[in-house]
Amino acid sequence: MKFCILASGSRGNSIFIESKYGRFLVDVGLSARQIELRLSNHEIDPGSIDAIILTHAHRDHVYGVSVFANRHHIPVYGHPETLSAIRFKPNQMLHEWQSPFRINDVHFTPFRVSHDCEPTFGYLVSENSHSLAICTDLGIVTEQVKEHLKKAQAIILESNHDPDMLMNGPYPWHLKDRIAGRRGHLSNHDAGQLLKEIQSLHLQKVVLGHLSEENNTPDLALNTVLDYVGAPMEPIIEVVEQRTVSPVYRL
Ligand SMILES: [Zn+2]
Ligand SMILES: [Zn+2]
Repeated sequence: MKFCILASGSRGNSIFIESKYGRFLVDVGLSARQIELRLSNHEIDPGSIDAIILTHAHRDHVYGVSVFANRHHIPVYGHPETLSAIRFKPNQMLHEWQSPFRINDVHFTPFRVSHDCEPTFGYLVSENSHSLAICTDLGIVTEQVKEHLKKAQAIILESNHDPDMLMNGPYPWHLKDRIAGRRGHLSNHDAGQLLKEIQSLHLQKVVLGHLSEENNTPDLALNTVLDYVGAPMEPIIEVVEQRTVSPVYRL
């Protein structure tokens, strides 16, 4: 299995996954044009994508989904409430998933996360013995989150903000409360603590994402997380930024 992060953060999110059995996008939170451009960075033909899977209905995850899916005739999978919150064209191929579900021979196991959009899901994506966990947009780490992340060889994990930068930064108080709250976003410390608890020898790659551009920096996210998990984990941890397409990671 291969994956790459086309965009990550509050200005738009999309993850590309390729397995032996198909090509997928998780979320389409940029314009269709931007997604096409970013796919072309890795010479990926948008028409070769088999399905789009949605985590939740926030704009930064679904902004371009209708136009992109329509233009390239791609079916969209989501929880019924997620799909009904988005304005699709009448003839679009929509699939309300029943958890867990399978597309071609790739297994998707959604798990509920605490976020201020009901419902919001993380996913464990598995092909044969390889699993990738996608876990962004959550305010707290539950046992259910840990259980799913423990099974993965690769994890895309939210490391949204540094609590001091957030509290001392320019955001109004209601927004600070929202971000730091139980239905907001994980801090660098939350991400570090979580990884410390689920660390295992089968974990091969961790990509820290959904970083705030105002309340975090890539170095701060990485160094804070390393304070929890220890320097030996440094080679397997990457940080992705909003404006650049990540390399392709292989499992
Ligand atoms: Zn988001
Ligand atoms: Zn969100």
